Amino acid sequence: MIAVLSDVHGNLEALEAVLATLDGSDRVICLGDLVGYGPSPNECIERLRARATTTILGNHDVAAIDDFGLEFFAPSAREAIVWTQSVLTEENAAWLAALAYEVRMPEYLLVHGAPVTYFAYVFDKDAAARAFAETDARLIFIGHTHVAETYVLSPDGSIEHRHFQHDGEMRLEPDRRYLINVGSVGQPRDLNPDACFVRYDPDGECIAFRRVAYDVASVRAKIDAVGLPRLLAERLAQGR
Ligand code: ZN
Repeated sequence: MIAVLSDVHGNLEALEAVLATLDGSDRVICLGDLVGYGPSPNECIERLRARATTTILGNHDVAAIDDFGLEFFAPSAREAIVWTQSVLTEENAAWLAALAYEVRMPEYLLVHGAPVTYFAYVFDKDAAARAFAETDARLIFIGHTHVAETYVLSPDGSIEHRHFQHDGEMRLEPDRRYLINVGSVGQPRDLNPDACFVRYDPDGECIAFRRVAYDVASVRAKIDAVGLPRLLAERLAQGR
């Protein structure tokens, strides 16, 4: 079994809650944005350095290591990146800097936002259609929007969209292609504040979305303690 997770955003409590649901033999794949928004960037990086078999870069990671795209960030996100830069260890920054933007395996493609245009947002069927056209991977795992959802491309070219705001499973049919947004561990935005990730069973050809409750109050207290914007604490409890 492979746990595919994304957008941890310096939220160690959410990450630990997700990892606690896994067996030691489960593999972990991380689709980026380990840092930004949250108060524990180094701890999250170190936990995933030890536990994940594959990690790729997200836009907040790139912003933290070289200011990339910072001018397009919302004020609270920018403030969090500047704070992250001030606490990020040299070793963790170097580890982030060595990550790839994509990893292609025979069975699947891993990108943060979308194939080729790595930080594009897949918000609708048109964007999903573009994503399918950019790669021949049957299975594309993404994060970035913090919304757990799937787009399924049928042989006739039609695309079916489905939200996974709560636990849910989906069988993978051999003649279809799948764009799977695994949601966010550390800052869900689909009005369910529980940490989100996907369990992928390559043998059984199925995926399962899992939501995991965690100690939001203690993360909020840490956000206040390090002086990050109050807005970032409030949105965790609302899941938006
Ligand atoms: Zn993110």
